[in-house]
Amino acid sequence: MKITLKPIGSIDSDTLEHLKERLNRTFGCSIEITSQIDSPDRAYDPKRGQYVASVLLAQLETPAVARDGKILGLADADLYAPGLNFIFGQADTTSGVAIISLCRLRQEYYGLPSDEGLFLDRVAKEAVHELGHAFGLGHCSDARCIMHFSNSLADTDRKQAQFCSQCRPKLIK
Ligand SMILES: [Zn+2]
Ligand SMILES: [Zn+2]
Repeated sequence: MKITLKPIGSIDSDTLEHLKERLNRTFGCSIEITSQIDSPDRAYDPKRGQYVASVLLAQLETPAVARDGKILGLADADLYAPGLNFIFGQADTTSGVAIISLCRLRQEYYGLPSDEGLFLDRVAKEAVHELGHAFGLGHCSDARCIMHFSNSLADTDRKQAQFCSQCRPKLIK
């Protein structure tokens, strides 16, 4: 099993390296960072100034990846899904592909002073959550479990970056 991190557009290399280490500790498998890909124009909605996550997800899916691991796309752009104002991330349980947006994980987005530690923690949490879905897990009722649904960043900040004792055994290796 391998997890591939694919930057969609430019992503800071310190952020990628930090995430790689965190995911390695959490999932215990090898993590590979690939070179960045561009987001297709057709994923962009100029009226909303956002990208639709499903198109980016479909672009990440490749037969090679499906065979030997999971893939996580990382976008700095703001993402949405039909019917929702924005999403932190999305995953396809069947194909094992997931995506997260870093856009709303920064304190600066809310007009607050930058907090790099908090930002990296949020990135790791969103990544582990969406990868949990890619590994076949659903949402968990335990508010501290990483698979608990986040309605807001307050929910994300409250969660631990770990799977609870119910979810961890369900991770398909
Ligand atoms: Zn979820
Ligand atoms: Zn759980």
